[in-house]
Amino acid sequence: MKDVKFDVIIAAAGKSERMGVNKMALTISHQTTLERTVEAFIGIENIDKIIIAVSDENINVAKDIASRNKNENIVVTKGGKSREETVYLALKEVTSEYVLIHDGARPFVSKKLIKDVMECASIDGSSIPVLRPDDSMRRVDGDKITRTVNRDKYCLVQTPQGFLTESIKMAFNSILNDKKSFADYTDESEIYLEYIREPSVVLGDKRNIKLTDPTDIAGLNTKVGSGYDIHALVPGRSLVICGVQVDYHLGSLAHSDGDVAIHALIDAVLSAAGELDIGSHFPDSDPKYAGIDSTIMLTEALEKLKEKNLKVTHASIVVLLEKPKLADYIPIMRVKLGNVLKIPSSDVTISAKTGEGLGEIGEGKAIAAYAMVIAN
Ligand code: MG
Repeated sequence: MKDVKFDVIIAAAGKSERMGVNKMALTISHQTTLERTVEAFIGIENIDKIIIAVSDENINVAKDIASRNKNENIVVTKGGKSREETVYLALKEVTSEYVLIHDGARPFVSKKLIKDVMECASIDGSSIPVLRPDDSMRRVDGDKITRTVNRDKYCLVQTPQGFLTESIKMAFNSILNDKKSFADYTDESEIYLEYIREPSVVLGDKRNIKLTDPTDIAGLNTKVGSGYDIHALVPGRSLVICGVQVDYHLGSLAHSDGDVAIHALIDAVLSAAGELDIGSHFPDSDPKYAGIDSTIMLTEALEKLKEKNLKVTHASIVVLLEKPKLADYIPIMRVKLGNVLKIPSSDVTISAKTGEGLGEIGEGKAIAAYAMVIAN
């Protein structure tokens, strides 16, 4: 790329109305949305200044980012009443020959996309990342489809959008000169098209989503947990697996009811919650847990997840047992665990494996289980 400088405007003064919570301050993997967005631009050659334009409620979020990145040239400004008024105000701070304008709510923008936009803008004077729609497109009027349209003629527009600073400033000033409203425009490419010329496009990135409503953030804080347990099989004990009594002449030796699958599941739940293991929460030296129904301990472990604002959305269990066959019990086990986890039984999967005659499992001396959970 030729040796030109870019300033970056991060437009982050929106009201997050469709999200229902302040999305700039949302935590995604230990960082706020806004911090992650800003960091995407840090360390890219030819970027000079980063201007974060925020509403009053996020001034401190933005100032924290600036103070954590003291070596960067970060400026915090106040946004306007509309997206384009925010950009208009922030453009006053731009001093580089080129400018990138980016949505604060697109934290997953890649450095590659940013560089592609810079490269194209430095040659053509403008650069807009676009995606071809994957779904079929139709024209609608109210709740009726009225026409088919050729989707090859349409694209979805992303950010960052890059421009020669002088041109985009001129385009914004023209809106004021024409006494039009900033609120009538949804992005800069629309303004550039109206007042300057047809902007150039580059290929956008599907991962560069704009966080808009709660479905966009579902799963972003997903945790995974795994657990394992083994018990000896002895006469005179009952065999309880996944909360279900299994008919067999041996049972698992334990301080509690010896439900090896639920113990593995409890460890998986505690691990997803970032907690220590079952032994530290339910010590087998404590008489309180003697013969206890393991589903009670599982419910307590689930409370630990709840404290982290997480819940199990899928559980997968593997039981290792030579005899008896568990196939007939598995449907009821899935229902039982689904009820405790408060998820559909279809999201609890249980498979049973023998030890093929090998080791303690194969010799019928022990029962073991692995469990894994997804929590979000
Ligand atoms: Mg155990």
